[in-house]
Parts: sequence; structure tokens; C-alpha cells
Amino acid sequence: MKMAIVYFLIFYIIVSIVAIALLGISVFSLQRELKSLGQKVTSLETSKAEAAAQEADMDSGTLVADTKTAEENLAGEDDILKVYLTFDDGPSTNTDKILDILDDYGVKATFFVTGKTDDASKAAMKRIVDEGHTIGMHSFSHDYSQIYSSEAAFEADFTQIQNLIYDTTGVDCFYYRFPGGSSNKVSNTDMAEFIRFLNTQNVTYYDWNVANGDATTQAYTTDDLIENVMSDVVKYKTSVVLMHDAADKEKTVESLPTLIQDLQAKGALILPISKDTGFQGGLL
Ligand code: ZN
Repeated sequence: MKMAIVYFLIFYIIVSIVAIALLGISVFSLQRELKSLGQKVTSLETSKAEAAAQEADMDSGTLVADTKTAEENLAGEDDILKVYLTFDDGPSTNTDKILDILDDYGVKATFFVTGKTDDASKAAMKRIVDEGHTIGMHSFSHDYSQIYSSEAAFEADFTQIQNLIYDTTGVDCFYYRFPGGSSNKVSNTDMAEFIRFLNTQNVTYYDWNVANGDATTQAYTTDDLIENVMSDVVKYKTSVVLMHDAADKEKTVESLPTLIQDLQAKGALILPISKDTGFQGGLL
């Protein structure tokens, strides 16, 4: 009888340990799921804010600092189209896929990166530079309420992203894209203050005059994304095309090979932003 009780107790203890282990494993996997859901929500919120800001930009049309320049940029029949493909909000898992596609077509582009400090993101930044693309700054935090809260906050964020790019790639970066563009309606501080600061740092900022719309709605198909670009690039001698290489922009990745083929079929020159670009992409 005593032995039976002992066996029962041993059996009971073993079953308890197994149950506790199983519970532990399921708690761990739930935590991971929660974490990844949290990341998805953050990335969705970022996209929404960006889309709202971009829509405001499109509606206002206030980026036309110089209408003569805008008119001069209208393409004639014989003009060779210059197209600058730009990708914002990376690096992410999609950055490498985009770099692979660009490599397949021997095309160089521009990546406006944010302050991601994990190893994979740093490796992507290095790859951007090593493969001859242009790396630009898109703020460190990409948090509108923070970077645009004051000139001091903007400068601190700017220094952080410029240093990260330098420490990671060795490139002294002089290209900037404002989150939401230079005429976003989110900033309560006059954007001219930040532009003046960039000037003192010899940094040129770039907006865009063509967008594939990947931040406007997830409803766009890959064909829509391509059409959004193709219908506009034919209008301009020089187009700066806004796209995103964030983790949830798979359709932008999928659309890229056809977009490049279509641009090349039109005889367009696809170029990375450089000191010779001479056009900041102000919305027309
Ligand atoms: Zn952005």
C-alpha cells in the first residue's frame, strides 16, 4: 500500500512537471506572438501617419517653391526621362529583396533610412553603399511629434541618424528626406527652420514629384503601383519617385521588376541621387 502511494506521488510529480513545462512553452510562444503583433501595429501606425502627411502634401501643392522650375521640368517629346527611384522607411526585410532586384537589372537607387540599429539593418545599410546605391537620411526616430517638436529636437535626431550612417557605412551623408515631406502639415514648427539648419550642414533635402502610392492605401494592386508611377514619369524630364521598403510593403517589392522594365522600355535613365541631381523633387 505504502509503495502504491509512493508510486502515485512520483507519477503525480512527473505529470505536474510536464504540465508546467508545457505551460511555460505556450506562455513563451504567446509572448513572441504578442511582440510581433505589437511591431505590426507600430509599423501600421507609422504608415498611416505617413500616408496622411503625404495626402496633405498632395492636396496643398505648396512644395512649388519655384513655378518656373516646375514648368521647366515638363517633358517634351524628345526628352530622355531621368528617374530617381527612392525608398523610405527601411531598412527592413524587404530591403535585401529590393537590392537583389536592382542588382538583377543593374540599376542604382536611393534609400532614405531611419535609425535601425540591429545587425540585419546595419548589414542592409552597408549593402546599399557597397553596391553603389545612394544612402540618405530619413530621420532617426521617424516620430513626427518628436523630431518636429523643436529645432533642438530636430538637430539631435539629425545628428543621431547621420552618425549611425557614418559609423555603420563610413559614408558622410549629405542627403535628407523629411518624414512626410518638406511641406508636411504635421509639424508645428516652421519647416523653414529645419531647412535652414540642413543648409548650415551642407545637406540637401529631397521631396518627390511622383509616388507609387504604397503608403496611401494597401488596396493598390502591384499593377496600380506601377501605373501610378508610369502615368506620371512621362510628364517630367526629371522624376523623383517615392516608394517604401518597409516590412509591410511586399507589393512594392513585387512591382519593382515590371516597373524597371517599363521604365527602360520608355528609354528612361534610372539614377541614384547625387550632387549632380539638381532637382529636389518638389511636388508639381
Ligand atoms: Zn517615412
